[in-house]
Amino acid sequence: MQWDALLEKMIAGRWIAGINTSDAIAAAKEFNRHRITGIINYLGEEIKSEDEVESTVKKYMEVIDTISSTHTSADISLKLSQLGQNIDESLARRTYKKILSHASSSNIFVWLDMETYDKVEGTIDIFLDIGKKGKSGICIQSYLKRSVSDIKRLSEEDAIVRLVKGAYNAPSSIAYSSRELTTKNYYKLMDYLFRNLHRFTVATHDKEITLKALRLNKEYKRDITHAMLKGIHNQYAVELAKSGESVSIYIPFGEKWKEYAFRRISEGSNMHLVINSLFENQRI
Ligand SMILES: Cc1cc2nc3c(=O)[nH]c(=O)nc-3n(C[C@H](O)[C@H](O)[C@H](O)COP(=O)(O)OP(=O)(O)OC[C@H]3O[C@@H](n4cnc5c(N)ncnc54)[C@H](O)[C@@H]3O)c2cc1C
Repeated sequence: MQWDALLEKMIAGRWIAGINTSDAIAAAKEFNRHRITGIINYLGEEIKSEDEVESTVKKYMEVIDTISSTHTSADISLKLSQLGQNIDESLARRTYKKILSHASSSNIFVWLDMETYDKVEGTIDIFLDIGKKGKSGICIQSYLKRSVSDIKRLSEEDAIVRLVKGAYNAPSSIAYSSRELTTKNYYKLMDYLFRNLHRFTVATHDKEITLKALRLNKEYKRDITHAMLKGIHNQYAVELAKSGESVSIYIPFGEKWKEYAFRRISEGSNMHLVINSLFENQRI
């Protein structure tokens, strides 16, 4: 077997649900058995043609309809650069609105992923203009220095936030370049969320952060969800769900798996993390 095909096979079963909507739904159903909600993402970003945007929108419509018809417990999560943000902002606004309205009629929650630093402002603006209160949320990255003020702005609008460390590169003038500083900022932002918001998601595989969130929630009693990526520490996610916590798993699927997979590999930073991730027990 060629290296490419071998890698595809290993990764397909680990971090990515598969190629088709039915693969994503099957993965979500498997998590549902453990009282875990899926967050389904159709892979693809930085789309530059309107035809491709249109077929992405169709795919999300199919995902929404299938979640609904199969009674799966799942949100969806999308990137504005999939919806035309790089072509024409009004196209991204139109397509995001269309998906939101379809999802909302089926009572399905819609997340906006956060992408590269140059898209943050535009993504927050579009979310605050179009997002539906209580039915949509947005991701914020702790590696960006601007996130403190972004989180304050979002809190004032009572937005639902998913806090992550951040998966992209950014210049050191605007981003924390070490994991330590990014983690320190995560704690600071999470503290702010506990003090100011009622509902938010702590998205991390960093157990120290999860334990701190659990401790804080004893005091604040917020509606928090712990979220992880498919294939990383999912057994811990199952334990959290078993103990009564609200837990979600992000489930990517689609043909364009390579970019996503290489992001996961590069952030593992220690190759042994990635090797473990590929070979540890694949069942949740
Ligand atoms: C639900 C969810 C949604 C996300 N959405 C976005 C988004 O919209 N935009 C964005 O920029 N980023 C997003 N991310 C990714 C996030 O920014 C981080 O890149 C990723 O979660 C790793 O950071 P960490 O908090 O787990 O901490 P880290 O300090 O990176 O990792 C903590 C521990 O987790 C394990 N781990 C982490 N990564 C790997 C890996 N690749 N392979 C094996 N083990 C690993 C290791 O045990 C590690 O010690 C999302 C993450 C989650 C969980």
